[in-house]
Amino acid sequence: MRVVVVPCFSDNYSYLIHQEGRREAVVVDPAEAGPVLAALAEHGLELTAVLDTHHHWDHVGGNEELCDRFGHLPVYGHASDAGRIPRLSEQLSHDDTFQVAGLSFRALHVPGHTSGALAYVTGDAVFSGDTLFVAGCGRLFEGTPAQMYESLNGRLGALPEATRVFCGHEYTENNLRFALSVEPDNQDVRAMAARVAALRARGEPSVPSLIGDEKRINPFLRCESAVIRHRFADAPSPVEVLARLRALKDDFQ
Ligand code: ZN
Ligand code: FE
Repeated sequence: MRVVVVPCFSDNYSYLIHQEGRREAVVVDPAEAGPVLAALAEHGLELTAVLDTHHHWDHVGGNEELCDRFGHLPVYGHASDAGRIPRLSEQLSHDDTFQVAGLSFRALHVPGHTSGALAYVTGDAVFSGDTLFVAGCGRLFEGTPAQMYESLNGRLGALPEATRVFCGHEYTENNLRFALSVEPDNQDVRAMAARVAALRARGEPSVPSLIGDEKRINPFLRCESAVIRHRFADAPSPVEVLARLRALKDDFQ
């Protein structure tokens, strides 16, 4: 399986996924059609399905143009996003599996950023949308801290440590600065910051990270670490720690 990172707008990532040696490809979160079409042409790929992680415009903005251009494209998303994801045709629930372009996918329902947020798992990769970012998580627009906690630590955190994480935005440098502000002595965060600074200086994306990396650097997966618990000593639970972290991050520049 090969993943082509397709930068869209200022900091969105769409992804083309295809089986090595096959022309059929799926796109995850076509933010806009133009860059997706250009990447398909560049790599000699044929689009066979659209996978949407959630209904926000900067993840589904290319759906209609791609569907019009390719005719009958199945569009996957969470069932509760019917009416919010343009051209949604395949309505998914938690743990549903499906096959497309010779690839097997499993959908994880990961509410928090939105109520219908999905992550897609295939092979050793997860496409996490705006739920899990490298070193961060999405804002709580439609979900509760408890939902986001379970989505990050339960569902995504249960994936094998070697799972590659492909997320919806290039927010990593800011996320790492925030992570250092809450855990200044976390050497894994420092090492990742150096690695990402080098990548970004070359204009390369910071994705993918690994689930195992995230458990060591991402404060939203570290609500039970000693340093973070101590920092929010009056928080009665790990969920409340996540709520406090998210509120701090909302105002972090
Ligand atoms: Zn979003
Ligand atoms: Fe987004």
